[in-house]
Amino acid sequence: MEAFPVSNSVLDSLALICLGSPYQLYIKRDDLIHPVVSGNKWRKLKYHIQNANELGKKHLVTFGGAFSNHLVAVACAGAALKFKTSAFLRGDELNSESNHYLKLAKCYGMELIPVSREQYAASKIKLFEAQFENNEEAYFIDEGGAGADGERGVAEIIFELPFVPDHIIHASATGTTAAGLLKGLNRRQGFQATRLHSVAVLKNGNQQRDYLAGIDTKINWQVHEGDQGGYAKSSPELEEFIQNFVSETGILIDFVYTAKALFKLKNLIREGIIGQQDTTVFLHTGGVLTNFKN
Ligand SMILES: *Cc1c(COP(=O)(O)O)cnc(C)c1O
Repeated sequence: MEAFPVSNSVLDSLALICLGSPYQLYIKRDDLIHPVVSGNKWRKLKYHIQNANELGKKHLVTFGGAFSNHLVAVACAGAALKFKTSAFLRGDELNSESNHYLKLAKCYGMELIPVSREQYAASKIKLFEAQFENNEEAYFIDEGGAGADGERGVAEIIFELPFVPDHIIHASATGTTAAGLLKGLNRRQGFQATRLHSVAVLKNGNQQRDYLAGIDTKINWQVHEGDQGGYAKSSPELEEFIQNFVSETGILIDFVYTAKALFKLKNLIREGIIGQQDTTVFLHTGGVLTNFKN
């Protein structure tokens, strides 16, 4: 078996009423890569794990909060590829019984190490060194799979597209996925006119803009503020949108990430920023686990 198969990530075409008026949209189904692991977390892990393998490491060590798709992804990938896994958890009140994300992480075999928010915020490298400095097998993976290795995995999405779209839109939190897409667009011949729309679900648009501005590219990109509340906040309007989208398509989305990006798309179409005749690819990054509570 290929270590990181992505062949399930098909490109579907949908005519959607819930975006305001009938709108022809393409959906890149990274949510189909794995039933519980977020597709973009899978993409971001690929080269981190390839590196760990090349260095002969056997133990993946990473970081995350209580509802981290990344922790579940590392735990699952570790189990599938025969790595030990540990994670520093943000919040010393947490344990593997706290919610269904952490339960799953533990079930996949991950060791959870709760630390205070202060310690977590101070230095991840220090936490890693304090606990694993004598462990030759341990391999550091930054929160969310950030960094050049993470971006490299995401960039491959662009090379899977069968045509050049006018727009790509996706949910964005740390900016790693956005940076990867940007680098892919920059590199693949003929894709330089595609516009990238990253929807900041963390209300940290400026931070993401600073990060993307450091990437040398001629691609037209924009970071939009998500407009339905901050991170992990919902609203009756967003709930209704999710209901309409899911019942119209049979494709599950989540209120933290993907629904906010699609909601933004609806507004961009209404504002004429994305034209009715334009071809748009929505990257479904996954995240559906949030729908399955205990
Ligand atoms: C983590 C995540 C994102 C955000 O990815 P970044 O690379 O941090 O911007 C988007 N969608 C889903 C479903 C995620 O789990």
